[in-house]
Amino acid sequence: SLPVVAIVGRPNVGKSTLFNRLAGERISIVEDKPGITRDRIYSKSEWNGQPFHLIDTGGLEFGKQDEVVEHIRHQAELAIEEADVILFVVDGREGVTATDEEVARMLHRSNKPVVLVVNKMDHIKHHEDLYEFYRLGFDEPIGVSSLHGTGTGDMLDAVVRHF
Ligand code: GDP
Ligand code: MG
Repeated sequence: SLPVVAIVGRPNVGKSTLFNRLAGERISIVEDKPGITRDRIYSKSEWNGQPFHLIDTGGLEFGKQDEVVEHIRHQAELAIEEADVILFVVDGREGVTATDEEVARMLHRSNKPVVLVVNKMDHIKHHEDLYEFYRLGFDEPIGVSSLHGTGTGDMLDAVVRHF
């Protein structure tokens, strides 16, 4: 079966924008509970002739206990379990947040390969902003703009290296 890449991160960092940029044919929307739309979305994609499955997840939130947040977190956990490689997306304009650090801890515990993606780097002059993300404890952060598509080639090179 194909390698699985899961896109994970807190809400609003641009996970779905990145997913839509990378997605080829959308294969299914998985809903474990009726009425909740922020579930795992699967697509097939490929890079340099290497096909893989891609999963988009609802944003992870911590410190809030309501049912929807718990459900979203559960969906992300399932996606992480299924994944061979995780794309951990953060927001280069906002810097490292407490929720990013929570997500990072969860990903370190998973022992899965993680590619740290610093999104919303729309302008090259912002690239010094990448340095603070090293403190999340992963390999070299990769700056991308999901909006413009820049940097996603380097990101995918890093992903397929883990297959
Ligand atoms: P998600 O909640 O992580 O799935 O985030 P979305 O993909 O829904 O994006 C959240 C917001 O960030 C939207 O308004 C996007 O248009 C915006 N966004 C996503 N990627 C980029 C980017 O690379 N640059 C900029 N400037 N905005 C982006
Ligand atoms: Mg989304």
